[in-house]
Amino acid sequence: MEQAGVAIRIRGQVQGVGFRPTVLRIARQQGLCGEVHNDGEGVIIHLFAPAPEVAALVAALHRELPPLARIDRLEYSPICAEPPSGFVIAASRGGVIDTGVAPDAATCAACREELLDPSNRRYRYPFTNCTHCGPRLTIVAAIPYDRINTSMHPFPLCDDCAREYHDPLDRRFHAQPNACPVCGPRLWLSDSAGRELPTAGDPIAAAAQALEEGKIIALKGIGGFHLACDARSEAVVARLRERKQRNGKAFALMVRDRAMAERCCRVDAAAWALLTTPAAPIVVLERQTGAEIAPAVAPDQQTLGLMLPYSPLHILLLEAFAAPLVLTSGNRSEEPQCIDNATALATLGTVADAFLLHNREILQRVDDSVLRIIDQAPRFYRRARGYAPATLPLPEGFAAAAPILAMGGELKNTFCLLREDRALLSQHIGDLKQRTAFHDYRRTLQHYLRLFRHTPRTIAVDAHPDYRPSRHGRELAATLGATLEPIQHHHAHLAACMADNGLPLTTPPLLGIALDGLGYGSDGTLWGGELLRCDYRTCSRLGHLAPIPLAGGQQAIVEPWRCAYAHLWRCGIVPPSDFAQSPERLAQLAQMLTRGLNSPLTTSAGRLFDAVAALLGVAPPRIRYEGEAAIRLEQLAWQGVSGVASGYPFHWEQTASGVPLDPAPMWPLLLADLARGVPTAQLAARFHLGFAAALVAVSCELARREGVSQVLLSGGVLNNRLLLEQLIQGLRQAGLQPLSHHRVPSNDGGIAYGQAVIAAARGAL
Ligand code: ZN
Ligand code: ZN
Ligand code: FE
Repeated sequence: MEQAGVAIRIRGQVQGVGFRPTVLRIARQQGLCGEVHNDGEGVIIHLFAPAPEVAALVAALHRELPPLARIDRLEYSPICAEPPSGFVIAASRGGVIDTGVAPDAATCAACREELLDPSNRRYRYPFTNCTHCGPRLTIVAAIPYDRINTSMHPFPLCDDCAREYHDPLDRRFHAQPNACPVCGPRLWLSDSAGRELPTAGDPIAAAAQALEEGKIIALKGIGGFHLACDARSEAVVARLRERKQRNGKAFALMVRDRAMAERCCRVDAAAWALLTTPAAPIVVLERQTGAEIAPAVAPDQQTLGLMLPYSPLHILLLEAFAAPLVLTSGNRSEEPQCIDNATALATLGTVADAFLLHNREILQRVDDSVLRIIDQAPRFYRRARGYAPATLPLPEGFAAAAPILAMGGELKNTFCLLREDRALLSQHIGDLKQRTAFHDYRRTLQHYLRLFRHTPRTIAVDAHPDYRPSRHGRELAATLGATLEPIQHHHAHLAACMADNGLPLTTPPLLGIALDGLGYGSDGTLWGGELLRCDYRTCSRLGHLAPIPLAGGQQAIVEPWRCAYAHLWRCGIVPPSDFAQSPERLAQLAQMLTRGLNSPLTTSAGRLFDAVAALLGVAPPRIRYEGEAAIRLEQLAWQGVSGVASGYPFHWEQTASGVPLDPAPMWPLLLADLARGVPTAQLAARFHLGFAAALVAVSCELARREGVSQVLLSGGVLNNRLLLEQLIQGLRQAGLQPLSHHRVPSNDGGIAYGQAVIAAARGAL
């Protein structure tokens, strides 16, 4: 007989994460009658019970939510149907299942316990996982997210595993990568020629022994290969650097537990909470004095990137090797991380002494995520494993957006799919100037479009005509008959910050500070130190750093001394006699600048940091990775910040073309301090403080004039903790409300999200 009931629609991350079994368990505990099933938009619960009992079930659901599940929204509607006897999980229904692919998650506490329990059938089995943990995005070939569509399909479940898989009350109910030593993938140790090495049945113990002997091991992880070695040994880490041809850039460390983490770095409660989330990211932390870590791990840096073991393989390895391990992506310099055994052996054969391999295929390359806690909140440097492809909510007003694809920038690339009220930001893909990385980008993009059945009606690209993703976006738009939407780089940064902070579509224009390396400006020059007035649709320039000539074009991006020279030349200042370059070289540069040859103008904040770093002697003649000079300058500034009271002055005034913010008054003072022998750490600190104070002062003036109180903060330069904290504090003290990034990176890893919301806003209004 038909009966009145209620249908509860649940949206969020609710498929493939053990959500339905949780509903089943709670409903049965409460003796309720009804069913739960998946459909195209999430989960639907039918309940035939009085309102208080429905409320009790929903409350319990929130309380006992599975670790990887997230509820975004609940909607209730009345139904009339014949109730089942008791409570059941019903078959999935209609529509495209598009929420089934969750991020990869670190081994959960229950699986960890089984892994280390000699009486458990999964004792020391390196592919142990359950519904609450294990690989997801990295093993999915297609949707729906069923075993047949994952790289687990060559491993049919044994009887024991099948029983777990089919029991709704088991932790492994519908756990697609479920496996055990009887039926699952296997691990082995190999030499660099691909020959399996005899390891008496325990390849992990053998690998730990090799690490102990100072060997470098390539190991196949969750989202790609890593190179591992003993982080205590200078000789070993230096050898890894040399073989990998990676100079300067810090290596991340994997530590066994909190005690080991605390011997390396200062780990407070917030940092520990972040390290132990299911995403298990790399967290950049202040180095502990006297930490027993080889200097070659992170040369000249007071920070170290730490992560905890996040797969059973890592847990077992760190149990066997009782010291921090360098764990860096397994690739040759600049190339994408290897994901398959053959490529790894071919590429890393001369880097690694041995290989820890397995036969579960990695289908998606996903790097480790990197975060740093700034102003007491976690901030993304790189958003990848553990976070992608979790959807990002969109603010109010975006629900009606037509499907959009945003191609992202050329450096630190991510791309973004947007439809209805969700944005899906890809994992960090990297610097697409490299051909192999660009190839990888195109492949990943195709995979996402297929996986999430996304057919874009609009394709958003960076306005830079020559960015590889912009060109590819133009081609795609032509092929698909989609509208092309070019978007200014810094507008994208600031729109990403708006959406990151949940500002609704109709938000009136506000003030934004975008500080980064280089972005194509709407006047065709290279921007990067911008004060903009923007909403989701439009953007105009109110102020900017005083433009300098980029002496030698591309060369000036990698040779910071050129920026120092250009800044001084512009102010008519002769560089100090001990300045890095020969007089002939400088004379050449002066001539180039005077004639305006190969010297495009830029307002880049990144180049200002390069200039100061070069003058203070912390920039190498030629940088080895993006941001190196600025990173070293920040490190230096932290050493001097407690000893300085105020910053260097900047000049700014309202002109017909906006407010140029000019460091000209700083240079003579900085050079005089340098000549007097004031510690360079104090000079670096005074630069940071002065720049932040000047930005705050200009912001106050512009905010007053525009009648706004919120100030957006975005751009790669704001990965700088000292600068961002100074800006946030300064703006707050001035009575303004700073809005910074929390869910997407401030650097170019976040601009695809900004491009997508701008395209949506322009399409919707
Ligand atoms: Zn688990
Ligand atoms: Zn099994
Ligand atoms: Fe940028």
